[in-house]
Amino acid sequence: MKKTKAKPKVNRKELLVSNDYSTETHLIYGKAFTEKWDYSHHLVPPITASATFRLESAQRGAQGFVDFAHTIEGKEVSKKAPIYIYDRLGEPNKDLLEDNLALAESGDACVTFSSGMGAVSAALGILSAPGDQVIAHRTLYGCTYELLTLWYPRYNIDVKFVDLVNLKNLERAITHATRVVYFETPVNPTLELIDIEAISKIVGVENKKRKKQNQISVVVDNTFATPFGQRPIELGADFVVHSLTKNIGGFGTDVGGAVVGPLWSRDRLLLYRKDFGAVLGTKNAWAALVYGLPTLATRLRRQQETACEVARFLSGHPKIESVNYPGLENSKQHALAKKQMRDFDGNFAPGSMIYFVVKGRTPEDSKRRGEKLINFLAKDAYTITLAVSLGNIRTLVEHPGSMTHAAIPAAEQLKNGIDPGGMRLSMGLEKVDDIIRDLREALNKI
Ligand SMILES: *Cc1c(COP(=O)(O)O)cnc(C)c1O
Repeated sequence: MKKTKAKPKVNRKELLVSNDYSTETHLIYGKAFTEKWDYSHHLVPPITASATFRLESAQRGAQGFVDFAHTIEGKEVSKKAPIYIYDRLGEPNKDLLEDNLALAESGDACVTFSSGMGAVSAALGILSAPGDQVIAHRTLYGCTYELLTLWYPRYNIDVKFVDLVNLKNLERAITHATRVVYFETPVNPTLELIDIEAISKIVGVENKKRKKQNQISVVVDNTFATPFGQRPIELGADFVVHSLTKNIGGFGTDVGGAVVGPLWSRDRLLLYRKDFGAVLGTKNAWAALVYGLPTLATRLRRQQETACEVARFLSGHPKIESVNYPGLENSKQHALAKKQMRDFDGNFAPGSMIYFVVKGRTPEDSKRRGEKLINFLAKDAYTITLAVSLGNIRTLVEHPGSMTHAAIPAAEQLKNGIDPGGMRLSMGLEKVDDIIRDLREALNKI
């Protein structure tokens, strides 16, 4: 049978240009859409800044809502372009970043959030409910600690803090109500390490005895090591959370967070983000995608070399009590560091963070000298800035006890290894000789 030639469709574009709506209205719509949009040929993805998306038919709109958070049915992970509806549900910059973060962490899925804390609370939020128990390492980033101590009791979620360095403590702490084992490694700020593989094995054995709905998930905050230096999912963890504000963003310009996890969690995380609303801004996603991730390995390699030299300098200095840096051969957990802190090529990757304690006659004296040291640095150092946050191209120093970890009561801090005179140093990209010069000069004055 001879094919009849299809009737040419009404050209809506032409119609919109030539219509007789007012110029004023045209200035809002222009041509309504344009052929100048050639997305797939950009060298870098353009920043999208569209809170909502044009739907050319009711059917497309309806399909978009059907597809949203239906990863498991495979609709949205199919090769077809997603139907975007509204930024809070998803949009191209975030989706691209999420794909790349999942790849970097060897995870199946990633959902981004407006901050690291947005990501931490979402990961814990989808994994726990009233009556459940979360087991967490005793030392945590201050706001994570406060999330678990100020808010979780109100939701009737029990939180048990244990020292996860000692694996026996985990075995003892697990109960039928346990749903999450949560920790950072290296720990912020002490740089203590927790054996991801060993923890995951213990949880794996326990999970074998449990029904699907009672499984325990291992969640690792990988902010300090970054995926360049450690990939917890490869070591058996279920989830990784990140503050993109730190080394993944890398330049200190944008706040953001991410959760990487198994495919089943993607829909729940998307729904959680949609309803709790901690959605990553498109411009922040774009910065991490275009500047942060592509330079991560280069920055980390350099920062790590610097950290090794600075850690060596500090540990040989008479005014320093102790230095914790996983790259130091005499560090207590060097063997564990060598086992789990590995870059994409398998090289040892001890990271860019250092924790050190200033010497003092008493803890108070150590604190006083530490404060003196950072005040000298804040005033006189060219290459070291007193500021919280970390993972920046600039070297940053801070006093965790009174700053990032101030939410943890002083007595708890002491018990959990946060020394009164403890300082956290985040290496930047400056020349290492300059950084050491500034440190030496400040140390000479205390
Ligand atoms: C900074 C930080 C967070 C929180 O991230 P924000 O982006 O500031 O919300 C969580 N965990 C660790 C280890 C951090 O250093």
